[in-house]
Amino acid sequence: MELENLKVASDKVSFAQAVKKGLGQNQGLYFPTDLRPMTNIDALLAMPLVERSQAIIKHLVGDEMSPELLDELIHNAFNFPAPLVKVKDGIYCLELFHGPTLAFKDFGGRFMAQCLANISEGKPVTILTATSGDTGAAVAHAFYGIENIQVVILFPKNKISPLQEKLFTTLGGNIHTMAVEGDFDDCQQLVKTAFDDADVREGLHLNSANSINISRLLAQVCYYFEAIAQLPKEQQDKAVFAVPSGNFGNLTAGIIAKTLGLPIKRFIASTNANDTVPRYLVSGEWSPKPTVPTISNAMDVSQPNNWPRIEALVEKGYFDKALLTGESVDEDYTQVAMKQLQTLGYISEPHAAIGYRGLTRQLQEGEVGIFLGTAHPAKFRETVENVLGQPIHLPQALVDCASKASLNGELKADYQALKEYMFATLGAK
Ligand SMILES: *Cc1c(COP(=O)(O)O)cnc(C)c1O
Repeated sequence: MELENLKVASDKVSFAQAVKKGLGQNQGLYFPTDLRPMTNIDALLAMPLVERSQAIIKHLVGDEMSPELLDELIHNAFNFPAPLVKVKDGIYCLELFHGPTLAFKDFGGRFMAQCLANISEGKPVTILTATSGDTGAAVAHAFYGIENIQVVILFPKNKISPLQEKLFTTLGGNIHTMAVEGDFDDCQQLVKTAFDDADVREGLHLNSANSINISRLLAQVCYYFEAIAQLPKEQQDKAVFAVPSGNFGNLTAGIIAKTLGLPIKRFIASTNANDTVPRYLVSGEWSPKPTVPTISNAMDVSQPNNWPRIEALVEKGYFDKALLTGESVDEDYTQVAMKQLQTLGYISEPHAAIGYRGLTRQLQEGEVGIFLGTAHPAKFRETVENVLGQPIHLPQALVDCASKASLNGELKADYQALKEYMFATLGAK
């Protein structure tokens, strides 16, 4: 697989290099130079999730890595299901939250960890990352127990929900977690400073494992096929996906799935009040406003990182922009959508509900709607219980880790302190 930097055309890399580097020169995103469609869609749809996903990933990555190796990486990463649940006639939720950290980020995070562990060929690597919640948990679980990889996760002390925190601070082993006396931006700044410090970058073999890594997108392409495969045959060419969006990685993966030949009719990009993309799709003007906090906080993004990849899919002729519409959902209608789903007997959380609202507003006669269930309702327990007025059942994974002790250390928002900590903890390993 060859990829090009969307900002610096001469910066071309292999899949392995793109996974290792994350971002290219001038902070440019990597994008495949060739996205050939697959020819055997019907046969693919008849396969089970893991086998089909192996075929898709081998098609995309090509002969750069051995087929046996890619099979193994997908087998290790995709060890949980993605059921398509019927909510009412013609509307389904693709539940992507049955992985270890109960959000769709497990798919991309786990495949990325498998790829990085393999590409580093047993040499020691340190993953340093800052989190405001979901990503940290997905990264921690994905790398937990992988030999020669140490993970350091910084999070803002007392600023994320107790359950979210327990999901990654209770692991121990190669997962080192530090509560920073500051906010998320302070944590991010510490990470950036470390990457600019050659002592640390080279001495500890730093890698970022961040959210724009190409391996994550490839993994996410696979579950769009899984959704169509679970539809009744006569509905398989009628599907419209409503994608609750923040950084727009999920939607990018869906459009790549369509480019590969999956018969998706069109897409609805559902956002919360951070509506840069829905406004842009109507006016043609890209004018981000300051980010506002909402109850769907994983989508509180006003300058989505992955958008240039969607533009590239359009410019290169892979995707017709007319097949994408936007829908911005405010806080009131997010709650209305959650209650409507409750009436249908389906308990959901704010992010997925925003997808559902996109469908109820825009789905047309003869179409079948699928919204992505991006997180388990228990992950947003307080909000869900408040809005729906009923207690939420905690899945076993949350019950288990809630009773374990947190193993995190504490750190001032001071770079020298971080550096000393990292060399003391990881330097000798
Ligand atoms: C990350 C996240 C999103 C947004 O996905 P993008 O790929 O960034 O658009 C939506 N819902 C939940 C629960 C998330 O964690």
